[in-house]
Amino acid sequence: MTPLVATLIWWAGVIAWYAIMHPHVRRSRKTPTAQRHERVRERVLMAISFTGLFAVPAIYSFTGAPRFADYPFRPPLAWLGVLVLVPALLLFFHTHRRLGRFWSVTLEIRQNHGLVTDGIYRFVRHPMYSAYFLWALSQALLLPNWIAGPAGLVGFGTLFAFRVGREERMMLAAFGDAYAEYAARTKRIIPGVF
Ligand code: SAH
Repeated sequence: MTPLVATLIWWAGVIAWYAIMHPHVRRSRKTPTAQRHERVRERVLMAISFTGLFAVPAIYSFTGAPRFADYPFRPPLAWLGVLVLVPALLLFFHTHRRLGRFWSVTLEIRQNHGLVTDGIYRFVRHPMYSAYFLWALSQALLLPNWIAGPAGLVGFGTLFAFRVGREERMMLAAFGDAYAEYAARTKRIIPGVF
């Protein structure tokens, strides 16, 4: 494992992530929406997340900037990054499939929206966000730079922190007791913990 290989693996993750999400983005444009929540705020949060998960590490991969934040590359850390990336992508793929037409980029309730509580959704309420955190963690392990590495955790962490409460309130308003019961028996992103 070399820094170049680690960077290429990071890029492979980005390409896989895009390939998984793209068909859903296309379908979601055609899926009628019943309610849309705070779209501008959501867009700002997504831009912050995108900066940390993509823009900053992409610039780093091409230019090496910011060099002052480099630290020595350690192959075991990068291997650990690969080990985290694989389940992140599998979980990402699976959650998109499971949500199907209920998936949306911003906070939306579809027409005839159903509440998903089975499969992976039995263990946590936000498994797609768990996948994003794993992906961001793999970025931190793959890129030996104190800014480009953790940028994904900071960026996605910001989106998560400002979104998850509002997403849950939206779901509670739409599904009432069914969501309250579901929330009472599940954690958010780490089964049994958080
Ligand atoms: N937070 C979820 C979903 C992310 S996609 C996860 O991490 O897996 C965001 C959209 O998914 C929201 O707009 C909401 O409409 C929808 N959603 C979230 N949880 C859901 C659930 N349990 N069942 C059906 N749709 C859900």
